[in-house]
Amino acid sequence: MQDYLVRALGFEGQVRAFAVKTTETVSEAQRRHNTWPVVSAALGRSITASVMMGAMLKGEDKLTVKIEGNGPIGPMIIDANAKGEVRGYATNPQVHFELNEQGKLDVRAGVGTEGSITIVKDLGMRDMFSGQTPIVSGEVAEDFTYYFAVSEQVPSSVGLGVLVNPDNSIKAAGGFIIQLMPDCDDETITAIEKQLSSIEPVSKMIEKGYTPEQILEAVLGKGNVQVLSTLPVKFQCQCSKERFGSAIIGLGVEEIEAMIKEDGKAEAQCHFCLEKYEFNQAELEGLINEIKG
Ligand code: ZN
Repeated sequence: MQDYLVRALGFEGQVRAFAVKTTETVSEAQRRHNTWPVVSAALGRSITASVMMGAMLKGEDKLTVKIEGNGPIGPMIIDANAKGEVRGYATNPQVHFELNEQGKLDVRAGVGTEGSITIVKDLGMRDMFSGQTPIVSGEVAEDFTYYFAVSEQVPSSVGLGVLVNPDNSIKAAGGFIIQLMPDCDDETITAIEKQLSSIEPVSKMIEKGYTPEQILEAVLGKGNVQVLSTLPVKFQCQCSKERFGSAIIGLGVEEIEAMIKEDGKAEAQCHFCLEKYEFNQAELEGLINEIKG
């Protein structure tokens, strides 16, 4: 089953809700970056939250999430857009920790408990929005919950989960975001809180084969979910040889001439997907000609 996301309302519009299965998406990130389990969980959770935040946008809008904790994983950068495309990387993909006291991957130890989460939304011609909050947990979901509450003033519940197989591949990944609208009444809040305290971890639900729709039913209760739309999601980088060419052009004629003299070529690698692009001498001379017009 291909990964997809569901946008929904709950309790007659008193809440808005998102749920997503990201097993394939996180698998692609894991394969490309060869992340070890703790990083797969940290980056996978971050990718899962980011792709749902992307689905809150419209049209060509996009956002960048930067999670900079003081743990050994280092900064994680994730880009997502309104089309369900997401890409991301962790600065140090091969970090290892023993399981924590609950027998789970110790994401907090990898991410760190101090630092910040920054979200920059590029709303095209209209606007640029940026918000930042401190890391409060290092487990990622709580950090997004805190971000929504403080930076966007939207009370939210965020559930994120990644299960890793013994061979480091991804067994299951997914998540949900529940957001209370301003007119949400106390009765609804109590009902949601009660439901949230009794549900299984979202990674378990995905492992059992729950669809995003079924995850929302589990979280909000059957009959309380009104699905608005679905969106396929995938790990999709936006890089291309052309883009790297433009970046090289930005270095200027002298710099490119130096590259030709030193190596006779240039090689560039995308941080997000690790794709490599090579420019041979003729191509570099072509770039110089573009500058000279
Ligand atoms: Zn790329």
